Amino acid sequence: MREEQPQPSDREAELEARLAIALADRARLREAVEDVLHRLARIADSDAVDAVNVLRSAIAEGESAGDDRVICSFRWGTYEQITAGPFVGPRDLDLGPQIERFIDHRHRVAEAAGEDFCPLSEGDFVDWLLTQGVLSPLGCHDRSIEIGDNPTYEPRHWPACPVCGEGRGEETMGPVHHGRNSAIWFRRCTRCDHEWNRHEEPHNGDRPMIPDDGRDVPGSCVPYSIAQAAELPMEVVLATCSRFGWREGAGMDGEAGIAAAVSMGVAVTDSALRDLGLAGRDKVTLGAFLTAARVDRRYLVSVKGHWLAVVKGVNRDARGTRRSAPVLAAWEIRLPAEMAR
Ligand SMILES: [Zn+2]
Repeated sequence: MREEQPQPSDREAELEARLAIALADRARLREAVEDVLHRLARIADSDAVDAVNVLRSAIAEGESAGDDRVICSFRWGTYEQITAGPFVGPRDLDLGPQIERFIDHRHRVAEAAGEDFCPLSEGDFVDWLLTQGVLSPLGCHDRSIEIGDNPTYEPRHWPACPVCGEGRGEETMGPVHHGRNSAIWFRRCTRCDHEWNRHEEPHNGDRPMIPDDGRDVPGSCVPYSIAQAAELPMEVVLATCSRFGWREGAGMDGEAGIAAAVSMGVAVTDSALRDLGLAGRDKVTLGAFLTAARVDRRYLVSVKGHWLAVVKGVNRDARGTRRSAPVLAAWEIRLPAEMAR
């Protein structure tokens, strides 16, 4: 019994059907992979999104691997480079045989027209490649783009807000005090503006930060000078001075400052200028006082609108008063332990 062979027409039909199935399978596979990637990208973090994008470009590369059409452009000219393109053409376009065909074509056209000359140009050759279908023009999309508003950036490596739980804490710089090389830093919630983790750091990391010794409190030059001269904590001096009329921003007058110092157990004498041989002059500058001041004594010095402390030869002024400023009054102070001398 003879086995029946498929007729050529049946074979063709069968191959075509197989090809159709293969193409449909490939399209379905592509769809399925795209679907998985799309879902993954929606739920995953940024590392996974990057991985998905790598996969996507790998698939796209694989799909175009069989395509040997490339973007090509041409240039010619000895003195001035002329360019044409870009066009789409074969990756391995061999120009030599094409040029031979082009010249042959031009000669035949010229001869048929009864021409005595047949000029040739590279530009005409490129045009001819286009008419022959060797090259195709490349379409160009020219679109105006604008990214627009950037939605709030809330990366996961910022800590979650302890108040609303929704937002993230952005590292934010607060007030800067250049004199002390200090900057306040804190986290601010991207949603509810709650602020936390407030702390102080050196503003310039190359230099040390001067600790907050109370010099920044507005109107505090009298309490600050007493704290520096008497080596007392600023909070203690501020609390005492408040009872003697000191107010933040407004300050206090000198007499009240002296009374506050005395109430803290400090001995005060108002004969400092006389003791230093500076009394009786028309004007005593801060510079003259600093030169004359004894390096084993503590002084409170009043200049116009300001007080400063000079302690054992060191000017503890936080404001940097000029040396030419006139001294209005000066007091020597002694701590309880120093009163015996
Ligand atoms: Zn919040």
